[in-house]
Amino acid sequence: MAKPTGERFDHWIDSYAKRAGSLSVSEVRALFAVVSRPEVVSLAGGMPNVSSLPKELITESFEKLMSTKGDMALQYGGGQGDITLRGQIHDIMALEGISSSVEDLVITTGSQHGLELLAGLFLDEGDVVIAEGPSYVGALGIFRHYLAEVEHVYTDNDGMSPEALEQAIAKLKKANKKIKLLYLVPNFANPSGVTLSAKRRPEILAIAKRNNILVVEDNPYGLLYFDKKPPKALRSIDDNVIYLGSFSKILVPGFRVGYVLAPPPIREKLVLAQESAILCPSAFSQMLISEYLATADWQKQVDTFRGVYKQRKDAALKAMKEYLPSLKTTKPDGGFYLWVDLPQGMDSKAMLPLAVKELVAYTPGTAFYGDGQGKNKLRICYSYPTPERIDLGIKRLSNVINLQLDLQQTFGKG
Ligand code: PMP
Repeated sequence: MAKPTGERFDHWIDSYAKRAGSLSVSEVRALFAVVSRPEVVSLAGGMPNVSSLPKELITESFEKLMSTKGDMALQYGGGQGDITLRGQIHDIMALEGISSSVEDLVITTGSQHGLELLAGLFLDEGDVVIAEGPSYVGALGIFRHYLAEVEHVYTDNDGMSPEALEQAIAKLKKANKKIKLLYLVPNFANPSGVTLSAKRRPEILAIAKRNNILVVEDNPYGLLYFDKKPPKALRSIDDNVIYLGSFSKILVPGFRVGYVLAPPPIREKLVLAQESAILCPSAFSQMLISEYLATADWQKQVDTFRGVYKQRKDAALKAMKEYLPSLKTTKPDGGFYLWVDLPQGMDSKAMLPLAVKELVAYTPGTAFYGDGQGKNKLRICYSYPTPERIDLGIKRLSNVINLQLDLQQTFGKG
C-alpha cells in the first residue's frame, strides 16, 4: 500500500484535546528514518552502544529468572516497582553520594515516563519550567505537551549560571509567571555535554529554595564519566530534589526501566499517577535487571561502556580539530554529546538536508530550545558509531560546513 504523503485530512481535528496540538514530529524523531540507512553516518540520535554489552550476560539472567521466579516475572507487579530492584537502585545511587529510602523510590518505564508523570502532577497551562539553555529535547516535548512555558537560562562550560538563574526568576516573577520546576541535567548534559560545577551546585539549590522552586535532577549519564567522577548529585545536597535515574545508559534502553526518587508526599502521588496511567511498570524488565545486577559484574560492564564512550569522544574531538579547527565545541568529561557552535548566520536545520546528501546526520540546535534559539548550533552524538565512522562522519560534515562558509563569504549569507 502506498504511504500517504504530506498533510492528511484529519476527520477528528475538532475533537483533539488542546494539549494534542503540541504533538508534532520532533527534529530528532524525524531523523530516525535517515539514521537507519547504512550508508549514512548518524551522529544524530542518542543511541547507547548496546553492541558493547555481551549478550550472554542477559541470556544467563533470563534463564535464571525463568527457572526461579518465572511466574512472578510474567505477572502484573506493584505500582511502585519491585522491592528487590529498588534496594539495588539504592546501592547504585549511593555511588553518586545519594542516601535514600527504598520507600521513596518509584520505578518507571524509563526516566522519560518519570518526567511525564512529574509533568502531569505539577504543570498546568502557562506554568513555567526553568531549564538549561540548551536542554533535553524529550523533556521539552513533555513540558510543551502540558502547555507549560520553558525559560532557558544561560549555560556555559560550568553548567547553568546562578546569576542568570536569579535574573530569570526575577524577570518571570515581575511578569507574574508561576514558576513550577527547575529542570536540570547536571552531568554530561544532553545535548551540551557540560557538567554543572561543584561550586555552582549549592548556589543553584539555594536560589531554588529561596524562591520555592522544586528542582528536578535528571541524571542518566552520571556513571559514564571518562576520567574523573562528576561532583556529587544535587539530591545528595538537598533531600527535596526530585532525582531521576535510568538503566538505559548503564545497561540498555530496551528494558525501559528508570526510576524517580522523590520526597514522600510527591512519591505517593507519583505511585497513584503511575497506577492510573499504566497499572505497573514491567515486572519482567525489572526482575531481569534485578537478576543481572545480582549475578553479573555490572560495574565492570559500566567500566566497559565508559571506555567505549571515551574512545569515541576522543575520535570526535580529534576529527573536529582536524577537519573543522575553527569551530568551537564543548569538551565533555563523560556521556554522549558534543555541542558545536557554527559561525553566525548559519542555520543548522536548513543545512541538514545537504548533510544527509553528504551521508552524515546530526541534530540541529533548535531542537533543544523551546523558543527558537540554537539556529547556529548542532549536536553531535558520538556514542554509537565506531571511531572510524565518527571520523568519516565529521569529515563529511566539514565538507558541508565549509561549502556553506564559502557561500557566506561569496554571497554574504549561509
Ligand atoms: N533524560 C535525558 C537527559 C536523556 O538524555 C534521556 C534519553 N536520551 C532520558 C532522560 C530518557 O531516558 P530513558 O527514558 O531511556 O530512561
